Amino acid sequence: MISYEEARNHVFKEARVLEEEKVALKKAYHRVLAENIVAPHSLPSFNNSAMDGYALRSEDTKDNQPVILELVSEEAAGNFQNLPVKKGQAAKIMTGAPVPPGADAVIPREEVDEKPSQIVVFRKVKKGENIRFKGEDVREGEIVLEKGSLITSPVVGLLAALGFSFVKVYRQPVVGVVATGSELLEIDQPLRPGFIRNSNSYALQAQIASTNSIPVDFGVVADDVEEMVVTLKKALKKCDVILTTGGVSMGDYDLVKEVFEKLGARRIFWKVAQKPAKPLTFYVKEEKKKRYLFGLPGNPGAVAISFEEYVRPFLKLLSGRKDYLPIEIQAKMKHEVKKKKGRLNFLRVKLTYQNGEYLAESVGSQGSGVLKTLTRANGLALIPAEVEFVQPGDRVQVHLVEW
Ligand code: AMP
Ligand code: MG
Repeated sequence: MISYEEARNHVFKEARVLEEEKVALKKAYHRVLAENIVAPHSLPSFNNSAMDGYALRSEDTKDNQPVILELVSEEAAGNFQNLPVKKGQAAKIMTGAPVPPGADAVIPREEVDEKPSQIVVFRKVKKGENIRFKGEDVREGEIVLEKGSLITSPVVGLLAALGFSFVKVYRQPVVGVVATGSELLEIDQPLRPGFIRNSNSYALQAQIASTNSIPVDFGVVADDVEEMVVTLKKALKKCDVILTTGGVSMGDYDLVKEVFEKLGARRIFWKVAQKPAKPLTFYVKEEKKKRYLFGLPGNPGAVAISFEEYVRPFLKLLSGRKDYLPIEIQAKMKHEVKKKKGRLNFLRVKLTYQNGEYLAESVGSQGSGVLKTLTRANGLALIPAEVEFVQPGDRVQVHLVEW
């Protein structure tokens, strides 16, 4: 059995970033940049007014307030005259309009007295006041966005401002989901004694989609080697990554590893010193293209948690992201935690922020088959393998979940 740290390192080490492709900016949200973006021009691209007001020469307001300035033009955004402002003159200007030649400051409209063709200024105006200078946001030639960054909505905005209608991104991972278990019913089937509904496939597809990968549902297969081989062969044709659930523990019908091996995949590990998800297994199949198979446990808690800890960062790596690890914070445990030595425990917690620090509280049952408490958790506290007790007030590491 390997440690959580070793298992994660193995998983991350195997990840190969997928190919690049071009997409329209409109389709690029939450994809990952496959190129550094070099600004083709500055932003702003010309000096412009930050206010509705009057463009003037600051020198004219240096002494003897009030000063009377003669109005020479009107400058609106997209409709401007750009006439020079000479000594003793000013131009009416709207937000976003180019600052006319000669002017070096803008005084807001509400601060002056407006006359038909003059304004009265009552204070000294500083050079540069209320002007947004060319290049103060972005300089031409600057690397404004780095390869491997997630295209968030502000990134979309910046790319649009710089005139990128297409961008190079990485291909999204295609992730197949196969639920194994002869006890599984489809969710629209009536419950029968001894059978349960297949919830894992649904929860996993939601998690896959939430990391902007493409889920493909291969339904349920019985605990039968032949049936599993048929379905997994189909899945391997279509997918970069396959997630199976169930069938990886010590039971007589835990056949998933045998099936992965039949398909020519190579085992990277089986069993991790963690709770839940001890029987987690990871295989790689290398032909022309590298494929990855995660044998997730069957219990819904183990599935959800192993996805957050292993699969989500792995999918982020495949999609080219530099920031692939979960956000980790320190929190103060609200209460005592007791556990056995030997396995790292993932504790489902609710985080709250009080008096400048995060507090973590268990959301109730931590049983790996328990679904309800997962829905109440916004973090996973990592209680290290060697620890037996956590005292109230002790600090713990918590991973924020993105489910
Ligand atoms: P297994 O490792 O196959 O023995 O499964 C462990 C537990 O998880 C059993 O109680 C299963 O019934 C349950 N389980 C397995 N697959 C699913 C699934 N797709 N949805 C919900 N529960 C499941
Ligand atoms: Mg099973």
